[in-house]
Amino acid sequence: MDSDYKNYDISNIAGHKKQLEFLNGLFAGGRMPSGLLFYGQKNIGKKFTATAFAVSVLCGDYRAFSGEGGSSSLNLNFCGKCPSCLSFLNGVSPNLLIIEPSGSAVKIESIHKIDSFLSLTPAYPGYRFIIIDEASSMNASAANALLKMLEEPRGKTVFILVTSNAGMLLPTVISRCLLLGFSPVPGEVLSDVFKSEFPDIPGETLKFYSKLSRGSYSGFRGLVEGRYLEKRNFLINTIFKELFEEYKNKNINKNPYEISAKFNAMEKKGKAKVLEKCAVSAEENEDKSAVFELILFILRDIYIYKMSKSEKLLYNEDIADEIKRFALDSAVSSKDIGYMIESTVEHIEKINSYNLNKSIAADSYFSKLLSL
Ligand SMILES: [Zn+2]
Repeated sequence: MDSDYKNYDISNIAGHKKQLEFLNGLFAGGRMPSGLLFYGQKNIGKKFTATAFAVSVLCGDYRAFSGEGGSSSLNLNFCGKCPSCLSFLNGVSPNLLIIEPSGSAVKIESIHKIDSFLSLTPAYPGYRFIIIDEASSMNASAANALLKMLEEPRGKTVFILVTSNAGMLLPTVISRCLLLGFSPVPGEVLSDVFKSEFPDIPGETLKFYSKLSRGSYSGFRGLVEGRYLEKRNFLINTIFKELFEEYKNKNINKNPYEISAKFNAMEKKGKAKVLEKCAVSAEENEDKSAVFELILFILRDIYIYKMSKSEKLLYNEDIADEIKRFALDSAVSSKDIGYMIESTVEHIEKINSYNLNKSIAADSYFSKLLSL
């Protein structure tokens, strides 16, 4: 991981400038609260910002403690070389604990983990951070145990709760925290970051990924790694062509399994290695529904063009001709496309809630699309 350390430097975070200034101000002004709540849409960098903030503070603490680099204040960065940074990179930081949900919830066992973490004497004096990801998934006993900790802050301990669903948190927990909202990172900002990180990716491709990732850095990376542009082109040239032909010639009884076989073959292709060096780990649970969201993205464009006859509103600008062809030349009505969109949304919900066999799920999806 040596070459990756720079990615944890707070100055390398894409977007979120106001939030970073705010955090920097808290730290520099010596006004660190015992509880912070980072809230906002999923996958836009809240947990990463929390982690980068924590490790930068700890790096500064270490440098102050060891006499290197003078005062720790006003100097938030992640050097990647000191014992504090190295212990984090090796996954054993004595001053930082990251709690993730086990299964679908943060459970009481994880909160007990915090207790034992805090009972240890840290290697050097300074802050201690506990980041709780998906904090709103805490069950009642976990939330109440956490509340007690927030009510009785111990020394320089900072809890950072991260959530995309703040409404599900206990109001008493929320009231103990300083709130910090996050918005999706604008596409242009993400494109700029990726342009400098991956100069080999053509501009058009970056543009496409920026739109599809909806302001999520990790989402953007997942799309590049998963070769989603290639997938989209395959979908357009093969799957959509067949689907729409199928509608046009309703009397031809073609087998939907042939379509899903092609689709499954596309899904089996490996991931691109292009982003191997990036330190931000891609979503641990691979995004099972991403390719269907891609289908939705295309269907949405076909629908929009059919209704508006305008290219301006298309996400897939670079393949506007194909989108137009599907929208205008085929015998598929807007009602049919509406049905396809609905079926795709239902399918996405299904694969996100159940652990379905991917290829069987694809069979049933394409059968449904053809069952009009
Ligand atoms: Zn350091």
